[in-house]
Amino acid sequence: MAIIGIDLGTTNSLAAVWKDGQPVVFKNSLGDILTPSAVGIDDNGEILCGKVARERLITHPSMTAAEFKRSMGTDRKYTLGTSTFTPEQLSSLILRKIKEDAEKVLGEPIEEAVISVPAYFDDARRFATKQAASMSGLKVERLINEPSAAALAYLHKHGFVDGTYMVIDFGGGTLDVSIIDSFDSVMEILAVSGNNALGGKDFNEAIYNHFLSANEILPDTLTDEQKAMIYKMAEDCKIALSDTPLTMMSVNINDKTYTLMMDNNTLIKISHEVFEKILSPIKQVLRDARINVADLEDIILVGGSCKMPTISAYIEKVTGRKPCTDINPDTAIALGAAIFAGMKSRNEELKDIVMTDICPFSLGIAVEDSRTHEIIMDFIIPRNSMLPTSRRKSYYAVSDNQTSVRIQFFQGESIIPSNNTKLGELLINCPATPKHGLIDTTKMTYDINGILMVEVETVDGKTHNKTIISKSNRMSEAEIARCQEQLSKLTLAPTDKEENRLLIARAERAIEETLSFEREAITQTLLAFKAVLEKGNSREIRIMYNRLNGLIDKIDGIDTGLIE
Ligand code: ADP
Ligand code: MG
Repeated sequence: MAIIGIDLGTTNSLAAVWKDGQPVVFKNSLGDILTPSAVGIDDNGEILCGKVARERLITHPSMTAAEFKRSMGTDRKYTLGTSTFTPEQLSSLILRKIKEDAEKVLGEPIEEAVISVPAYFDDARRFATKQAASMSGLKVERLINEPSAAALAYLHKHGFVDGTYMVIDFGGGTLDVSIIDSFDSVMEILAVSGNNALGGKDFNEAIYNHFLSANEILPDTLTDEQKAMIYKMAEDCKIALSDTPLTMMSVNINDKTYTLMMDNNTLIKISHEVFEKILSPIKQVLRDARINVADLEDIILVGGSCKMPTISAYIEKVTGRKPCTDINPDTAIALGAAIFAGMKSRNEELKDIVMTDICPFSLGIAVEDSRTHEIIMDFIIPRNSMLPTSRRKSYYAVSDNQTSVRIQFFQGESIIPSNNTKLGELLINCPATPKHGLIDTTKMTYDINGILMVEVETVDGKTHNKTIISKSNRMSEAEIARCQEQLSKLTLAPTDKEENRLLIARAERAIEETLSFEREAITQTLLAFKAVLEKGNSREIRIMYNRLNGLIDKIDGIDTGLIE
């Protein structure tokens, strides 16, 4: 039975399936590829989904809901007429519509799906997405990060060319920028950034306001229906400008016709603030991944707003790179989710592709700052670490004759522990330790299924464990036990790996033994090696490992010919 891939978007949703060695998108009951993510109730109390609901957004605001993806995993409720809905329930109605429409095309029931979610979605929001799926009658074992899905669609089309890619996803109300590395058919997300208050609707609003002011229309004089009509025309005008240089808006209000000519230059002028905000997440993500834009293999544009020629031109201007143009921005994520679904059902053609995931948040413990005595976060697993990962850190006594430690684990980015989400704690007795003496080593191991294992080893060699299973984990006890077993055997993060430590020790010894030029060369290469270890990208680690190893071999008089 087919597993479908679903792009459950903030503005639009769609589905695709792996069929005869290809990912194929489904058309819905109206023959459209995109189904607006809007839900409403009509005058007879019936549920409306998709395009019909979207049409009524402005005319029947109290009976229609949209953009509920933003509230997934929160307590927010939506009141439509006399009924109340959670964001999960609204999403489940969209998923059910997508599922039923796809079943009509396939001619068979669909029971399972892979759904894409933003890479930064935390645990609660991933859990909410899975719940929405189960309410709609779909089994969802795996979610796929949207940028990974987009990259997968790109790589499937272009062949799996090794390299680092930037994915820019500009949708209706959000902008997500990610850096993805693909090596030997293994895909890794290196960094994610974005702005969740920037999207296509900002252009619609700019055109709407421009139309009103150019025609000297006061918004207060308009009925809801008239506002809706102008707003819709503003969006149509923006979409038309993606294909034609000039377009005219024309609206009839109270027997008077108002018009406006629009071109892309005017659009850029009236929405310059939107353009200015695009740059900062692009800069941030390159910085986080420590990568130069010139080193990218390609820039992949997805999301409806990337169909605007002004957007691709702007991205080309700021990056100096021509983004790829042969991927359909509307369907890339759904196609990627379908490819992943195909991999999940072990299709022969896809058996070699492996996908890794990142931890979208940091994990750490609360510690006392030795200078200020404030309680602050010490991050053990930094955000954007590749999963599964295992890292450890040593901790020192804060008072003399300390005989116990309280280790509280948190998830989040704030330096103040109470601003983050507390996951649990361990209270441990230990041998009396003098102030500043080594008291314990704490190891955190985290995997893609949301299983966090904390292992604390005190100086007397005793170990204390705690495992925290995330809310979004739907595995059986037996499956969890199997994962825990695997995780406990997991090798440590690259920084802690034996061979890497050995090479660092060798380099440090070589630095002591050499002088001038050679010393400088090893020092610089060692620093670069440590930097890539911290980042955790296996391909870069391999390259730098070989470079440093080759350099020391050469200085030691051993020539393996490996030096680059
Ligand atoms: P989301 O990821 O938020 O669900 P999409 O990726 O479907 O959304 O993008 C929706 C946005 O793309 C809307 O603001 C829509 O107006 C815009 N859009 C769709 N097609 C075009 C086009 N041809 N030109 C410009 N904007 C477009
Ligand atoms: Mg999207």
